[in-house]
Parts: sequence; structure tokens; C-alpha cells
Amino acid sequence: MSGEHGRRRLLVIEDDTQLRKFLRISLGASGFAVDEAGSGGEGLTKLGSGDYDLIILDLGLPDVDGQELIGAVRSVRHTPIIVLSARAAEEQKVRALDGGAADYVSKPFGIAELTARIRAVLRARRENPGVPPQLEAGSLRLDHLRHEVSLAGRPLKLTPKEFALLALLMSHPGRVLTHRHLLNEVWGERHSEDTHYLRVYIGQLRQKLGDDPAAPRFIANEPGIGYRFVAAEPPP
Ligand code: CA
Repeated sequence: MSGEHGRRRLLVIEDDTQLRKFLRISLGASGFAVDEAGSGGEGLTKLGSGDYDLIILDLGLPDVDGQELIGAVRSVRHTPIIVLSARAAEEQKVRALDGGAADYVSKPFGIAELTARIRAVLRARRENPGVPPQLEAGSLRLDHLRHEVSLAGRPLKLTPKEFALLALLMSHPGRVLTHRHLLNEVWGERHSEDTHYLRVYIGQLRQKLGDDPAAPRFIANEPGIGYRFVAAEPPP
């Protein structure tokens, strides 16, 4: 698969020199073309002149607030962003995802995890430029027009809210959708804090899908943050 459209171009915006160098070398070894910026200002300059497939953004930069940088990038480009943040800063991750980041990785992280997240985001971007009328993930099928869901050819009876929730998750494979985002989209802004709705409905969906929360095939939990539709494995 690699090389099909040339090497994917990544921009790493990170002020930690050692970490930046490590990312350049290891992501370069994984086949990505890596460009770097040591500050938010430098990152924005590079974004203005270069064309990138994905941005890796440290939220703790000396010159610009990472959250503001996400907004600045979003306002001019649709380049997906994966944020790097301290493990404890759950609030930051949620804000970043709500602000439009595609995913996050907590520091300290393993390079294998980061690379997997990068591939998942790039794959989702390639497969879902818009929302297609039919969504598929392995043996799971969702048809927007007919309002039908089937698993291994067997139709599933979903309530309208369950259907809306599953469609939203399936439309963004591999991406974390925050509790707030899901609640806003499915139940409306008045219910954006009612996370117990999600617990109940995700539980019902899992039961109907025969999905095990401990080893999810479809819906993975991101504790304190949201849910992620497990991106289908690429063919071997
Ligand atoms: Ca930093």
C-alpha cells in the first residue's frame, strides 16, 4: 500500500528537541516524509507554505496555546491533527477533540501506538471524505437510505437513537468522538452533559452487536473522553 500515492507528508509541531528528533527518525523509518517545527509560529508558517497530509501537534508549546493553534489550522485547512498531551490532562484532550482534532496520544507514548493512530486517521480520511449512504465495517452494514442495519447478513432492530449513534460512530472510524459531541449530535445541545444517556444506549448497542467492551470489535471506550468506532483492520 505504501508508495501508492507517494509518501505521506507529516508536520510535527513540538518544542521538545529530543522528542522532535525521535519522531522525525522513527516516523521517517516508517515511510513518512516528516517536516518539523519547534514552535507554534514556525508551525503556522510551514502550514502556510507546505501541503501536509497530517499534523502532529504538541499541546504544550511555549509561544502559542495548542488549543488556539487547532482553531487556527481548522479555519484555513482540513488537515487532520493528532495532538500529543500529558497523560493527566484529560480536560485538554476533550477540548482538543471538540475543537476538531482527529485523535490524541498521551505522553509518554510508544511509537507503535502513534504510528497506528496516524495510519487509522489517514485511512479514515481516505475512506470517508464525506458520509456515504452505506457504511460497512467487517460484517456490519448500515444503510442510511433504507434505515437498516445488519450484522453478518442478519437484520438488527435498532431504535432511532441507537441508529443515529451507530451511524455517527461508523462515519468516523478510528476517531474518538467525545461524549459532548455525541450527545449534541444525537440528543441535541440541551443534553450535552447527560453522559448517562450514552452509557445506556452504548450498552444497548453493544448488546445488539454482540460486542464485548473488554475486547471491542466495534465500539471502544475512551474513559472520561468518549467512544471510538474501531477502524476495520486493513487487508493483509
Ligand atoms: Ca511541549
